Amino acid sequence: MDPVQIVCSLGHVATTDELFRRGISPRDIRAALQTGQITRATRGIYVCQHADDEQRQAAALHAQIACVSAVHRVGVWCGLDCALHLMRPADARGGGASARPLVDWNGRELQFHGATPRFARPGTPWLVAPIEAVWQAIHCLDEENAIACLESARHLKFITSAEQRRICVLAPARLQPGIRELEDTADSGLETLTRRRLRHHGFTVVAQGRIGTSTGSLREDLVVDDCVALEIDGRQWHGAEKLASDYDRDLCVEGLGRRTLRLSYRHVMFEWETTLAVIERTVADARRNRRSVRRIVGQNEPWW
Ligand SMILES: [Zn+2]
Ligand SMILES: [Zn+2]
Repeated sequence: MDPVQIVCSLGHVATTDELFRRGISPRDIRAALQTGQITRATRGIYVCQHADDEQRQAAALHAQIACVSAVHRVGVWCGLDCALHLMRPADARGGGASARPLVDWNGRELQFHGATPRFARPGTPWLVAPIEAVWQAIHCLDEENAIACLESARHLKFITSAEQRRICVLAPARLQPGIRELEDTADSGLETLTRRRLRHHGFTVVAQGRIGTSTGSLREDLVVDDCVALEIDGRQWHGAEKLASDYDRDLCVEGLGRRTLRLSYRHVMFEWETTLAVIERTVADARRNRRSVRRIVGQNEPWW
């Protein structure tokens, strides 16, 4: 393999040591640099043309992408944090305050984590290990987003159940009540947030409830007080195919007399007060209408 292929295979960032270990000579590296297919991010670290801004920034600072920035790269929930979180290993070259600028070259805020990993799991030279990233993230995030991150990381198999348990045992006291409420039902962090907020508000919320139909059963993200179904953020997390089946389900659920509300990212993250008021009103209406709905459903199986 040539240096470019190796840099690509290592995630588009590679150190000189990694290249040497794979039989690449300094001369090979110089040749690849001349073609422009790889560039030197900083002394001893090379990136190929596929490396993104975060990777280039981390490489230039001899740092690893960490915490919420690391989990975000694989779609694990990380709330609204927009900063680039980095970890500079203890043996990183360079040092001093100048090695820790406050913003990156795009003006994005930089957050640095301590140099000593909590877990003895190897990451890569440019990315911390998954368990380390989640551990860091639950410290940087507020309570509800930290819990959503823990559920999301497990759901997406970014960490194993054993790793999740390990993190939970060691997690700070402020997160322990939320950890006792952890479930493995949520498809997304947004669903975790909605489920927990509604339960804390006093609703009974069943996650991934199934409703029987004449042709089988359908799954609903959340069922509130056994009378209103919530489908969360279909467009962001589901593909077009899933969207079509979402419409089928809405029709079927309405046919069974159960109201469905479809919530987007915006509804949960930025307009929660209004969203909650709508859910409260819909649940109150549904309760009032139960008796008449039962008559309309007719031959279908009662669902309450
Ligand atoms: Zn590449
Ligand atoms: Zn962080």
